[in-house]
Amino acid sequence: MRKLPAFLLLAALCLAQSGTRNGIDRSMFDTTCKPCDDFWRYATGAWLDQHPIPAERARWGKFDELAEANLERLKTILDSAAADRSATGDRKRVGDYYASCMNTAAIESAGAKPLHPMLNRIAAIKTQQDLVALLVSLGLDDTLAPPRINDVSDPSNADQVIAGVGAGGLSLPDRDYYFRTDTRSQSIRDEFAAHVQKMMQLLGDAPETAASSAKTVLAFETSLANATLTNVDRRDPYKRIHKMDFAALEALAPAYDWKGAFALLHVATTVPVNVSEPEFLKAFNHQLQEAPLDTWKTWLRWRLIHDRAQYLSQAFYDEWFHFERTVLSGVAAQQPRWKVCVSSTDATLGEALGRLYVEKHFPPEAQRRMQQLVANLRAALGEELQSADWLAPETRQNALRKLASFDPRIGYPSKWRDYSGVKVTRGSYLADKQAAIEDERRFTASKIGKKLDRTEWSMTTPTVNAYYTSTRNSITFPAGILQAPFFDLEADDAVNYGAIGVVIGHEMGHGFDDQGSKYDADGNLKNWWTDQDRAQFEKRAACIVNQFDSIDVGGGKHHTGKLVTGEAMGDLGGATLAYKAYHRSLNGKEPPVIDGLTGDQRFFLAYARVWAANQRPEAMERQLATDPHPLAKYRTNATLANMPEFHKAFGCKLGDPMVRPPAEQCRLW
Ligand SMILES: [Zn+2]
Repeated sequence: MRKLPAFLLLAALCLAQSGTRNGIDRSMFDTTCKPCDDFWRYATGAWLDQHPIPAERARWGKFDELAEANLERLKTILDSAAADRSATGDRKRVGDYYASCMNTAAIESAGAKPLHPMLNRIAAIKTQQDLVALLVSLGLDDTLAPPRINDVSDPSNADQVIAGVGAGGLSLPDRDYYFRTDTRSQSIRDEFAAHVQKMMQLLGDAPETAASSAKTVLAFETSLANATLTNVDRRDPYKRIHKMDFAALEALAPAYDWKGAFALLHVATTVPVNVSEPEFLKAFNHQLQEAPLDTWKTWLRWRLIHDRAQYLSQAFYDEWFHFERTVLSGVAAQQPRWKVCVSSTDATLGEALGRLYVEKHFPPEAQRRMQQLVANLRAALGEELQSADWLAPETRQNALRKLASFDPRIGYPSKWRDYSGVKVTRGSYLADKQAAIEDERRFTASKIGKKLDRTEWSMTTPTVNAYYTSTRNSITFPAGILQAPFFDLEADDAVNYGAIGVVIGHEMGHGFDDQGSKYDADGNLKNWWTDQDRAQFEKRAACIVNQFDSIDVGGGKHHTGKLVTGEAMGDLGGATLAYKAYHRSLNGKEPPVIDGLTGDQRFFLAYARVWAANQRPEAMERQLATDPHPLAKYRTNATLANMPEFHKAFGCKLGDPMVRPPAEQCRLW
């Protein structure tokens, strides 16, 4: 952000406030574009033109502006904690971790040394038993190699936590990256091989050895990818549910030492297990039995450097950045070190830092107002379910029961995570990171076999985002997103309903999307629909799949309808519900026209504004390939093209690009 003298900043703030009292800033509009032609462009075009993507970013939009502002706030907290030598507890822990990360002189002089103990252990593998023993010990590591034992809800009794065994081990963003035949995908694989080679050379390998290692790594990961579910298949919970006992798990991959792996994490072998991808486990077992030990050793060396490079000296960081950020997402320049370190602290000791954040940056009034908004959205959805004539009485009852048991969580968790087991040294950045990873693994494992703790969060409080959890039937809104332009205590209701109201409706909508609708009120995977109602629901979902499959997003590229359907359903359902909740809140009164805009217009403009974002082409391609969220432009336009409420607000007519013909309009509620 450009530094302005303090008074200029104040003046700018005052101007901005007087211009946006209604919460809508007309200077964002591109008035050369008609709202019924491209509403996203109309509502945000001038802002898009004036806000090019900073060199260190893959995308720049309203979400990112807020996230950036939060980084600055977190920096203030961390600078002060790191400088305070009398700090104790979590404040000392986050301050020390941040200081380790900022100490680039120590990181530089250590070079690759922090990796030597593990590199030596890999090099010492002589037998298959040695290999398995090393893999088992990686159970205390987050990412290096599968199989990882996790805490998951029992699919038929969500309150009980059982052991989950998933897939893993891929270094590219998704399994399809190993197989796609288009030019860009092929060039990413070439770049990947070059990247592996360079990393190996940084570890001291000769160029020819490193080049041959790269080939080995790509071939090995391709074999794992071949047995991994596609991102569309992964959306179907029934494809990921394979509950079994310990003996069946052992039979599935007998070459692995499951007893050792469970013992390391103190998980009882009497606990049921869910294997999300049995085919993957079989392929993994096959590799254990068949792949040469040298292949495994090469791959483990690679996984180690792949995962740890960003915690090492500049040469490693640069190479990591080149592939992960530039090749995959088009990012041109590295962030300043303090941003790297703030983000790393948030990712590593998130609840310790998040607790300090909400003490300073979350007014209690925000919580009260959010509760009201959630209650109004809930009431609106209740009315929709009551009046949905396509639902049979029993489906309706089940849906209402699910709605009644939604657990809204606002701002911050009611119970904070205990990090007292993480020993931060304020000496070695990587050692501090590893201590936190290990503590996280022990914490995860400690939940297995116990009752589910419904107070836990999986997003940190400064995060500018929100989420739904189907196995808990909870909707969560971290403090980070409860700020303008999403949520503004000063703005008029239309604007809050159009922004955070839609976010609330979106998260509630996930309870009834292609995935969430398969879970009942208690979070159990259980069909609660009649066959006929389910068929109706599938028809409504298929409408959205077809809509997104058919949009050309530029250069002949498309979304994968089945990948984005849940998020797009959340958007359409959320916008519809928030609109209804807004009208409910008016109690039959006509909202005032402010600054020439009606209440309905302000509602839809606030919605579009949330999605103001520029994105690099590489990041866009990555999003299309891997992300269940549609691109920002289509979260706005594709959603609103289905809504007669929007068409009426802006006088859009049949034939306008923003109007889908009535027979093709998708509708959830
Ligand atoms: Zn979502």
